[in-house]
Amino acid sequence: MGLVLAGAGQFETEVPILIIGAGACGCIAALAANERGVEALILERDAKPRGNTSLSGGQIPAAGTKLQRAAGLMDDTPELLYRDILAKSHGECDHAVARKVADESAKTVEWLVERYKLPLSCVLDFQYPGHSRPHMHASPSRFGEELLTVLVAAVQAEGIPIAASARVADLFADASGRILGVRVARPDGKTEEIGCGALILACNGFGGSKEMVKKYIPEAADLFYEGHTGNQGDAVLWGEALGASIKDMGSFQGHGAVCTPHGMHLGWATFTEGGFQVNKHGRRFSNENAGYSEQALKVEREPGHVAWAIWDARCERIAGQQHSHVLANEAGAIKRYGSIDAMAKAVGCEVEVLRTTIKDVEAIVRKQKKDEFGRDFGSKPPLEPPYFMSKIMGALTHTQGGLEIDPQGRVLRKDGTPFPNLFAGGGAARGLSGPADWGYLSGSGLLMATNMGRLAGEAAALLVSK
Ligand SMILES: Cc1cc2nc3c(=O)[nH]c(=O)nc-3n(C[C@H](O)[C@H](O)[C@H](O)COP(=O)(O)OP(=O)(O)OC[C@H]3O[C@@H](n4cnc5c(N)ncnc54)[C@H](O)[C@@H]3O)c2cc1C
Repeated sequence: MGLVLAGAGQFETEVPILIIGAGACGCIAALAANERGVEALILERDAKPRGNTSLSGGQIPAAGTKLQRAAGLMDDTPELLYRDILAKSHGECDHAVARKVADESAKTVEWLVERYKLPLSCVLDFQYPGHSRPHMHASPSRFGEELLTVLVAAVQAEGIPIAASARVADLFADASGRILGVRVARPDGKTEEIGCGALILACNGFGGSKEMVKKYIPEAADLFYEGHTGNQGDAVLWGEALGASIKDMGSFQGHGAVCTPHGMHLGWATFTEGGFQVNKHGRRFSNENAGYSEQALKVEREPGHVAWAIWDARCERIAGQQHSHVLANEAGAIKRYGSIDAMAKAVGCEVEVLRTTIKDVEAIVRKQKKDEFGRDFGSKPPLEPPYFMSKIMGALTHTQGGLEIDPQGRVLRKDGTPFPNLFAGGGAARGLSGPADWGYLSGSGLLMATNMGRLAGEAAALLVSK
């Protein structure tokens, strides 16, 4: 697994561009290459593509789009999105890649909407932490499966082949690091070798590999994994074998409100709109709205590794637009409570402690008191009964460390020079979060997958056309 073999370059089948992974990054890379008249083949380990893209909320940030302007939002710009990425990652991400994806984001979204009919519209009724403007674009269901279905259909309509049940086990490379081809392992144990002019790694990160998570992000090893188990870190393993530069391996996107034991997350509007979290003693323990990523380990560190989220009907109306929140309701993970007594009983804490916590939050919201955790509730009104509550845990959503790339998606060696014909995008590449869990700006995952997919597809097509 993850071997890079010396190869002579003799393959029965050869294609100009091979793409590993049929998520957003892989499908978009294939569409971009195809538009430049270059043949691409996507290799996907699953029988049906269902990577993280299909599990996601499908919310894609983009700045200065026609959709935003049509919705009356006139003042979003790539510069603002770029600055938001830098602020959230404390400036510790790759600035050139951040600048490029911010600059390209409107073009990518408009291209996907206009040419491939991705059903996106602006999300205007709430803003994620760290977004200075409502950057998000999403489909009506707020569910990534809807996006991936459209992308896979577009790929198929263009006649681009997706080989399913085709796990790439090994790469073939020459001494210069030029990728010659890949070895594909089929479920029946048979293998095939396919040559290529360029290779795009769109096979995401290592969240599905317990072993790699333990090695690189030990503090997240016990978190529930909410992503696709097929993302086994192959891009990183191949990169290590090739001598690629690999960065930010301790970084990940977490989620600090995954219903337990059900396993789906609450819509984060629960908290942006004024909801909060208490531990088993009925006490708050954090600024819940710093970001959903860093909230995961805060919940994990509480007694029993759990907490309870509390919100009201107003928050519920907005959070309920998100598919995972709908699923949480359907699974019975969210309950309504008419009294604090009933909530305290469900948590197992003293009623007076919970009553005091709720009163304190009301005072903070009314600006009568300063929050000891530094949270600013902005102009949100205090929660009103009936309350909604769910028992939650922290989760690992996807990893953020990976192959260092340049703004064209070319994978870089440790000395900063690009490999001759190796590209990466989406979760296979180093993310925009910097070194840790606190740096993830909501939507960075699909921002990297959609934009670097397009840019890597274009750059690979240009390379093999020369
Ligand atoms: C629950 C959840 C919610 C999320 N919500 C959002 C959101 O709203 N907005 C946002 O921006 N991001 C979100 N994300 C993150 C986002 O989903 C990912 O960053 C993005 O989908 C990555 O796209 P990708 O194409 O790189 O990877 P994926 O979509 O995971 O695709 C990778 C594909 O590669 C295949 N593969 C892996 N290894 C091999 C191999 N060796 N051979 C062949 N195939 C292989 C996998 O099977 C998979 O199909 C969310 C993630 C999760 C889990």
